[in-house]
Amino acid sequence: MANMRFKAIETAYNRSTISVPAPSEKVADYYGSYTFNDDVMKTLLTPEAYLKVSNAIKSGSRIDREIADEVAAAMKAWATSKGATHYTHWFQPLTGGTAEKHDAFFDVTPSGKAIEKFKGSALVQQEPDASSFPSGGLRATFEARGYTGWDPSSPAFLMDNGAGGKTLCIPSVFISYTGEALDYKTPILRALHVLDKAATAVMYYFDRNVEKVTATLGAEQEYFLVDKALFYARPDLVMSGRTVFGHSPAKGQQLEDHYFGSIPPRVNAFMVDFEYEAWKLGIPVRTRHNEVAPGQFECAPTFEELNLAIDHNALLMDLMNKVAERHNYKVLFHEKPFAGINGSGKHNNWSMMTDTGVNLLAPSTKPKETLRFLTFLMNVVKAVHDHADLLRASIASAGNEYRLGANEAPPAIVSIFLGDELIRLLETLENRGEVQLEKGDNVFYKLGITRTPPLMRDNTDRNRTSPFAFTGNKFEYRAVGGSANSASPMIILNTIVANQLQEFRKELEARLELGEKKELAIVDILKDYYRESKKILFQGNGYSDDWVQEAAKRGLTNIASTPLALGKYIDPSAVQVLEKMGVLNEREVHARYEIELENYIKKVQIESRVIGDLALNHVVSTAVKYQHQLAQTAKSLMELELVEEAQPLKELIKEISQRVYIIKQAVEAMTEARKKANNTDDIPTRAELYGSEVKDYFEKIRYEVDKLELLIDDEDWPLVKYREMLFVK
Ligand code: ADP
Ligand code: MG
Repeated sequence: MANMRFKAIETAYNRSTISVPAPSEKVADYYGSYTFNDDVMKTLLTPEAYLKVSNAIKSGSRIDREIADEVAAAMKAWATSKGATHYTHWFQPLTGGTAEKHDAFFDVTPSGKAIEKFKGSALVQQEPDASSFPSGGLRATFEARGYTGWDPSSPAFLMDNGAGGKTLCIPSVFISYTGEALDYKTPILRALHVLDKAATAVMYYFDRNVEKVTATLGAEQEYFLVDKALFYARPDLVMSGRTVFGHSPAKGQQLEDHYFGSIPPRVNAFMVDFEYEAWKLGIPVRTRHNEVAPGQFECAPTFEELNLAIDHNALLMDLMNKVAERHNYKVLFHEKPFAGINGSGKHNNWSMMTDTGVNLLAPSTKPKETLRFLTFLMNVVKAVHDHADLLRASIASAGNEYRLGANEAPPAIVSIFLGDELIRLLETLENRGEVQLEKGDNVFYKLGITRTPPLMRDNTDRNRTSPFAFTGNKFEYRAVGGSANSASPMIILNTIVANQLQEFRKELEARLELGEKKELAIVDILKDYYRESKKILFQGNGYSDDWVQEAAKRGLTNIASTPLALGKYIDPSAVQVLEKMGVLNEREVHARYEIELENYIKKVQIESRVIGDLALNHVVSTAVKYQHQLAQTAKSLMELELVEEAQPLKELIKEISQRVYIIKQAVEAMTEARKKANNTDDIPTRAELYGSEVKDYFEKIRYEVDKLELLIDDEDWPLVKYREMLFVK
């Protein structure tokens, strides 16, 4: 077995860079060429059909059968001309990842004739055999079938299957026959719709030309790359996506020489390759760089309309996995693949944009626009303050549990960073007394706030330890996990902000009815919001222990455990806001909660089994063999009457014995804990048992194994070591 490790290292060491030529010199020549985009539709559809589809995209209106037939025919013609043989509805089930089921464009009749299969009906709706997707009991209790439905707002695209041709992928929602959401896209579309309505209504007080507000998202993606040979020599990476053992290398990330350092050529070739593929699909990946940890990298796209950005991120992850194969890498999106080394997040940069092109979170120097800016800013702050626990629930997972609150990761406490300048401005707003307004007066001049300060254009001013930070003209939700589907936190964020904007409008209307002046009424409401939400604002170091204590004093929750964090989904206040906004009804919320708990249980269970297996079959067996060798040597020394010389060996044998003993005991106890958890029918209790009693042994076992890694002859050690995985290129 030990041989496997050295073979893998040798293979990895001897790899050469695989360069892939660009499809064309100019990116514009191939950018989006694999998408059934607006330009393609304009050329291939009749003006009538084009208009109907455009309207469906803009306003969510229905597409009738005839138009659907025409679009399907055009899509098929376009796709087959580019080498596609199959089509699929492409959707995002709650298991994570994406799902596809390919159908051929043609079918053959018994008489051997090929007939066309792709009609409008197949474009609009399909019934995959969905019984094996998680539904949290929804389908079991209601209708066994679910179906997928075309989302025209996200363009269909071609997926290259390598040698086997291409597949036309149609972005779709996945719902049960009774209409419940079984996926991520359905609630995201609902949330974006209510946000649009609520934000547009509030915009009415500032600019009556605005007819639509879209949420925008730019998701920065962090990841690790490990050579394929090394990956397969680590059963824990294969099974659970993270290393359950491994001693920290002598040199980790303490020198910080990796961050923004030059990208190794082989890695660069991989990046260039997946960027070509992404650009063909119209995914605007723009930046690439090394991350802080060795072996860690990041890519970030230009922000887009949120629904599209989520599809693009899911597709990008899939693409990266596929392209990595060509370059003999494995991509790790796991939140914490290596203990003691930075984890991976997916920073969700979020804002709201009007159809007139205004970013609602961009500060302005004009007083009137400053009031608008502060209105949207403070409504976000208030929403996050009021629903912090729900927002925390939306990023809870087995993987993120290792990252949140661990070194160099945002804490599990939800807090907001606004920056000193903004805080000063809000303080001024709060502390100024009543303002008397004459006609023509400007409330901001009266308050002494004549312009918003230039906000943190400089990167160095940014607070990188805050889970939810204002970064100049957008919020960055940094606590989202690297492997997560961004839809999960974005469903919640957009819903609670939409809800808050509705509340704001209600309060404002009530004041206007009493004859208050609009600007003054708004200022008053914002002052109240500031006062009420202050405790969630934190400008200091989020990684420090002081903050944990301070947050507790302030009454902020700090939920480290995933099962407990997920429990916040079914809090009455959470269910109430999701249901009231029409995003998820009570049954859907409960189903989601259950599915997430089951995901958690399964992941911890797999890890626990991997730990037991590796500990006994790889580590302990190696230790015992090594011990035997030592014993032989010690015996020879004794025979030569070199008693003193044999002493260190004896001590080593003893230490190994003790550690092996502890490992064996702990693995047995862990197995018992697993049995106990498995025999518990109540899912939340089972999840909690896995999170506490089973998981309690992980660190204990790891500690002993990592010590043995230092004691046992390097030649014999069976598992690829951290330094070999993180530094071999
Ligand atoms: P960093 O946070 O690493 O300093 P950038 O300032 O380049 O990086 O921005 C990170 C991400 O934020 C990018 O994906 C960018 O497109 C996105 N972004 C910028 N403006 C907005 C916006 N108005 N709405 C949503 N995302 C945005
Ligand atoms: Mg960032």
